[in-house]
Amino acid sequence: MGKPSLSFEIFPPNSMVGEERLIQTLSQLKGLSPDFISVTCSNQQANFIDTTLNVADYVQNQLKIPAIAHLPALYLTTAEVDYILQALHQRAISQILALRGDYIENKVQPNDFHYASELIDYIQGKDNSFKVSGACYPEMHPDSNNRVEDILNLKRKVESGCQQLITQLFFDNDTFYSFQESCALSGINVPILAGIMPIINRKQAIRLIQTCQTKVPRKFMAILEKYEYQPESLKEAGLAYALDQIVDLVTQDADGIHLYTMNQAQTARYIYQATTSIFQNLSHAS
Ligand code: FAD
Repeated sequence: MGKPSLSFEIFPPNSMVGEERLIQTLSQLKGLSPDFISVTCSNQQANFIDTTLNVADYVQNQLKIPAIAHLPALYLTTAEVDYILQALHQRAISQILALRGDYIENKVQPNDFHYASELIDYIQGKDNSFKVSGACYPEMHPDSNNRVEDILNLKRKVESGCQQLITQLFFDNDTFYSFQESCALSGINVPILAGIMPIINRKQAIRLIQTCQTKVPRKFMAILEKYEYQPESLKEAGLAYALDQIVDLVTQDADGIHLYTMNQAQTARYIYQATTSIFQNLSHAS
């Protein structure tokens, strides 16, 4: 096993204040030398060029950190994807997280891309110099009827040319290990990066649990209940919980840790500083 990767996810801001905060955050993340920074893209509007591309360009070409641009394709045409690929190419951004994206009520679909695997096929057919990653779900994608169907569809995604998988956030490492095992058994052999989100406030936790439909272990629930009215203590305990997850994952040879930073440099720095020697010494042991 090589050294596990450490990467961060950020989202493009939607206000001037958010923009200033993101620039400060990025300057701090730069000092942590992540393997890559991925930039999300909302599929609410067709806004890739104005938002995700701008931020990814800054990461790649100003900060000199490899950027991964998220690209949800459900509401894109092949012509729009062509334009985006060209724009990425011009900015020397060679990594894409190819996604289907979520359905939006009453929004008309062009019907060019129905699944992430179709987008991956399309990108690889156009320009195979892109390194394409895909999303995966240790607790199964909510649209899937069962785990077998979900894993078989994931395998299809890898066969389309997906070279790396990044998981949905999870709070129970055993779910991740069982998912890793299912992937290995079905012949999915690309790196699987574990998505970890340090929980630093109760509102964020409740929203995530509802939207991601993720399993909440008793130990984690106890933190939310115990510190319901003590935000500082909840933050400290949430960070400790994330650290505990990361130490376990890294020592069990996970391929990488992908931190959902929520644009909070402080959180990323805390996790980075607390785990630096854990990451470094693993590379010597391997
Ligand atoms: P797919 O891989 O297409 O899978 C969706 C569902 O379809 C699954 O149930 C799958 O089993 C099934 N399926 C797949 N292929 C087939 C097939 N050929 N036939 C039948 N069924 C099939 N969303 C955003 O809008 N913007 C982002 O920036 C973003 N970033 C993300 C980052 C990560 C790491 C993750 C885990 C998710 C992210 N999402 C993002 C959310 C994602 O777009 C949603 O979860 C979406 O519902 C599914 O996208 P997908 O690419 O995983 O879809």
